[in-house]
Amino acid sequence: MRRIDITGQRFGRLLATAIAPSSNANMRWKCICDCGRVVVVAVGRLTSGRKTSCGCEKAEAIARRIADSGHFQPDLAHAEEWRPASSVAPEWLEASSYGRIRSVLSDPRILPPYANKQGHLYVGARVEGVVKQFSVHRTICAAFHGPPPRGRKSMALHNDGDPLNNRPNNLRWGSGADNAGDRDGHGRTMHGVNCHLAKATPTLVREFRDLYAGGRSARSIALEHGFSPSAVLDIVKRRTWRRVA
Ligand SMILES: [Zn+2]
Repeated sequence: MRRIDITGQRFGRLLATAIAPSSNANMRWKCICDCGRVVVVAVGRLTSGRKTSCGCEKAEAIARRIADSGHFQPDLAHAEEWRPASSVAPEWLEASSYGRIRSVLSDPRILPPYANKQGHLYVGARVEGVVKQFSVHRTICAAFHGPPPRGRKSMALHNDGDPLNNRPNNLRWGSGADNAGDRDGHGRTMHGVNCHLAKATPTLVREFRDLYAGGRSARSIALEHGFSPSAVLDIVKRRTWRRVA
């Protein structure tokens, strides 16, 4: 195959820095992402425009969609409650009443969700060196409604048909037949995607600025509160919400 040198070239957020060892004919390049992560990517995926970030771009897009849908809005009436979901996930994965998943291993953090083609959310977590995918709705359903009654045959169903709404009160265990019924009932609409942006509040703005001044990254604040990292960065850098003291 034709050998090309893409060192120094930029593909979206990825900057190609060096050729990486490859076990087959596909050339792979080590790239550094704008977020700081280093990834190795096949040349074709870069030049075709299929790969434009380490994955952070997709994670941000889905975080934005969730923020837009309002499901992760901090809920002052109900504090976020975390529970283990050991029937469907390792004991160090916890699910929250706001619909989020966190790892409580040595580096505790909220895991950024990503969506499959159907709009269902998943998180990736390393189990014994291998990245495994965990379904967000299944994990949360197990944590708050008990183990799936019929094992793998049980499906975690969304009462309102919105796969982005993974709060426990929107989830229940059901069968494939129930799922088909649901689909007819709500026409498989992707709620939330087209909703207007969830608004920050002056209280949140002050909280974000305090956290940022205290050393937290905009990204981690964003993930915790369901905002996009760029929206948080704009807030903490006072490019938006300038009048809030
Ligand atoms: Zn990245």
